[in-house]
This record gives sequence, structure tokens and C-alpha cells, in this order.
Amino acid sequence: MKKYGLLSWAVSFIVLACHPKPQAELIIHNAQVITLDEALPTARAVAISRGRILAVGADSVVMRQRGARTRVIDAGGRMVMPGFIEGHAHFMGLGQSLVTLDLRDATDWRDIVQRVANAAARADSGAWIIGRGWHQEKWRRPLTPHVQGYPLHNDLSAVSPDNPVLLSHASGHGLMANARAMAAAGITADTPTPQGGVILRDAHGAATGVFLENAETLIYDAYHRYQQQQNPGQRHKNLMKQLTAATRHCLENGVTTFHDAGASYNTIDFYKKALAADSLHTRLYVMVAPDEKLDVAHFKKYKLIDGYDGMLTVRAVKQYADGALGSRGAWMLAPYSDQPGSVGQNVTPMDSIARVARAALEAGFQLCTHAIGDRANREVLNVYEQALHGATDRRWRVEHAQHIDPADQPRFARLGVIASMQTVHCTSDGAWVPQRIGMDRARKGAYVWRNLLNSGTRLANGTDAPVERLAPIENFYAAVTRRLHNGQVFFGEQKLTRMEALQSLTIWNAYAGFQEKELGSLTPGKRADMIVLSQNLLTVPENLIQKTKVLLTVLDGKVMYDHLKKGDE
Ligand SMILES: [Zn+2]
Repeated sequence: MKKYGLLSWAVSFIVLACHPKPQAELIIHNAQVITLDEALPTARAVAISRGRILAVGADSVVMRQRGARTRVIDAGGRMVMPGFIEGHAHFMGLGQSLVTLDLRDATDWRDIVQRVANAAARADSGAWIIGRGWHQEKWRRPLTPHVQGYPLHNDLSAVSPDNPVLLSHASGHGLMANARAMAAAGITADTPTPQGGVILRDAHGAATGVFLENAETLIYDAYHRYQQQQNPGQRHKNLMKQLTAATRHCLENGVTTFHDAGASYNTIDFYKKALAADSLHTRLYVMVAPDEKLDVAHFKKYKLIDGYDGMLTVRAVKQYADGALGSRGAWMLAPYSDQPGSVGQNVTPMDSIARVARAALEAGFQLCTHAIGDRANREVLNVYEQALHGATDRRWRVEHAQHIDPADQPRFARLGVIASMQTVHCTSDGAWVPQRIGMDRARKGAYVWRNLLNSGTRLANGTDAPVERLAPIENFYAAVTRRLHNGQVFFGEQKLTRMEALQSLTIWNAYAGFQEKELGSLTPGKRADMIVLSQNLLTVPENLIQKTKVLLTVLDGKVMYDHLKKGDE
């Protein structure tokens, strides 16, 4: 043993002598590198070794790390930056939305039939094909044949004979089923029409495949029976499909780390299996969701920091204080302007959140509480203030922090609480916010990023996908313009600068997960997650920002998505 030890020492000495410097596996050069590191804000090239950033600097300096086996990528003068960190979204929810056929942009019925045919070609025999969002009024070509303006199932049944098909209408008040789905539901010419529903029939009394209002239940019940019959293996396979879709979507959009805002213990176990099988290529920072017993023992059991080589971190717990503004569920200090009898509602008793807060503190977990209304924000800050009792650097978060009374805005910084916001919610919803809460409250308290920053608050930024699209560049555009879809600007004084917006999508989100020493900037020693963009987000004219494309995504030092060549075309 001793001899062997000496021999291996001698060999490694010779190897070291031959290679005095670590060699890069990958170098990206000829780039406008925006590092998000204040020590060296811009550079021309980045070198990577063993999943870590080896060097950042001038082309000539970084090229010294080049060896015989180094892959060298010429960025063609384009922008390189750290991979986006999604600050608040729902990973499995995103995956589920991606495996469902999105028919909102279908041009006509023939287009829909073709999409279902494509899905049927990929599906296992007997598996249901689910789609959503079709609307016959939007189709370009007139429909023949039709019954009351709706298509008939025949084409759909022909392209998908072995797979039941369920396509829900954009209105949410109807669906289209194919023959296989109707057979599974036991629909015949004699099926009685449920009360409050319509089974559309042709001249001979046969069902056309369209089920409206309460008649939808007939098909949904059959679908739910199918889901329940699946064995654990099939269920796992379905989840895997959703996870794979989510992780691919992240890479295509330059998202290398994802804050999953609420996952059950079962889901976390599933992530671990997927990581062990090398199927999950997104770093996940997971907030445990309150669907099971939340006690300290459970927290401790699931606590994981930088697990699976930095791919999985579980150190946060999610709570909900209120609902959403659109449905007037956000808990407000004063009644809604368009519903004077209501202030919204508290959805989890505050003393229950306070109990979770004490447990989280004890287990060394971050607490991340959903609060949209100004009352909810105030109550959550009260709970945090009492539980933290002067404890520093716990980085507890308020998720959304959407409407905050001016008196509460400085409390975030004072308590060291992170406002985890979604800049894209402002531009998606801003048009109807004044209607709900009036102009004055909207100006003083709605999406007040600038006020919070000025008072010293740390921000995080996310998209809440699948509520919004997982599109960091759209989120960036929303942050720097606050421009609504109707062209108006929603209280422009609260805009972020372009650099702040980039920080909010990288290093600030890293900070919000205690990961700023590993992620969020292109700094030697940090994990090598980075992207190449088609144009420079700091300099491109405002009206072209949203045309920016992600051309290359590097995760953990490996090129996981490469459209750089296509970008040249
Ligand atoms: Zn959410």
C-alpha cells in the first residue's frame, strides 16, 4: 500500500509538472460579458473548468486557459451573462401546462386536428390527450360541417382512434371530445342530458363531441377514472414527462436556477429521483408547501443545502396569507373600490402562520409567505417582526408583496425581509388595478419596486409561471418599462434601471436563496451557469428588448441548449 501511495504521488507530481495550470473545458470569447459582479462588471471572455468559472477577462488573458481539449465558442460579439434565476414560479405546474396542448393560437379546426394527430403519434396507446383554449370564433376559415357553429368530432376521432381526446374551450364552459373519450364516458344516443348542460347532437341524435356547461362532467369523470386507475409506475412516467418538459423549457429560456414556490414532500422526493437519474437539468431552490403536517422534525428531515452537487436546495417553507387581486381575494386595509362591501380575505389564520414562523426559525428555514393585499402585507410583517425578534440575516420573504401601504414599505428593509415580486404581473394586470383599488392606492402602493429599493429593501423577481410565461426577458422588459399591453405606462416613477432589472433576475435572486456565493454572477470560483443572448439587454432600444433571444445556455459548465448557429441565420 505504501509503495503504491508513493508511486501515485510520483505520477501525480509528473502530471502536475506537465500541466501547471488547470485547463478550461470551455471558453466563450469575443463576447460582451456582463458579469453582474461589481469587482469586474464587463469582460470579453469566460473560461470554465469542472463546472466552475475559472477566469473572466480580456480575450487574450482568458485564452491562456486554453488547452488541447478546450471547446472554444465564439459568441460573435453578443451578450453573455449569468443564467437567469427564476425567483418565484411553480416547476411541476409549469411542466403540466407544457404537456397540455395549448390551442389558444390555433388558426382553424384543421390546425387543431393536426396538433392532436401529432400528439397522438407520440402518446402511449390509451393515454388521454388533453388540450385547452380553443375558440371557434377566432378561426380564420369557416367551419363545415358544423352544429351551432361548433365542429364535429369525426376528424378528431379519425386521427386519434386509440387515444381519448379532451379539448376544453377557452371560455371554460365547454369541451370537445373524440369517439374514444365518449366511449370511455359511456355516451350513446340515449345518454340523458344532465341538468344545466348540453350534449350537442346532429340531425340523427348522435353526439357531436361538444359538451357544454354541466354536460362536461360526463367526460371529465371518465378522465378522472382513467387517472385513478394508473399504477404508480405510470403516474411516475407522467410526472417525468412534465418534469422533462419543464427543465427543457427552462434551458430554452436561459433559466438555470428556479425558485419553486411550494412543493410537497412527495414532489421533493420525486425531484431527488429525477436528479439521481440525471433527468433534471435545472437547479431547484424549493419552498416546502403546507400540504402536510408542518413540524420542525419534518423541516429538519428535508433540509438540504446545495444537495446533488448544487442542484437541489430545500431550506424554505411556503405559507399563504391571502388570495389574488383579480378575484378580490387579496386582503386589503380598506374595501375594494369596485366592491365597497369587501376587503378580501385572510386564507390562513395569522396565528397559524406565526406557529410556522417559530418552527421555521428553529429549523433554520426561510419563511416565504404569499401576501398580495396591503392588509396581508402588514399582518405578515407583524408576524415576522415578532418571530424574528431582532434575529438578523434570516432572509424571510414576502411572496408578491404587491400592494403595500406607504407606512409598511420601509419595514421590509428594517426587518431584513425580502420583497419577492413579479415585475411582469404589473404589466399584465396594471390595466385593471385602479378599478379595483382606485388611482390613489394604486399610485402609492401597487408594485412599488422603486420605493422599496430606495428604502434599502432587497428584491427578488420572478414570473410566477405558469400564471405568466416563463420568460425572463419579458419580465426584464416589464421591470424597465412598466408598459401595459395597451401601451400606457403604469406609474413610471417606480421603474427599475436596466442594470437593476438584470440584478433582480440574477444576483438578487441568488441572495434571496442564500446562494449569492455560488450563483448569480460570473465570478471565478462560482458555479458555471451562463447564457448567450442575441442582443445586449443594456443597450438595445427599448422597443426591441422583447425580440431578444436566448441562443446558448450553459449549466454547470456544460452546454445544455445551443441555438447559436441558428441565431446567425
Ligand atoms: Zn406563485
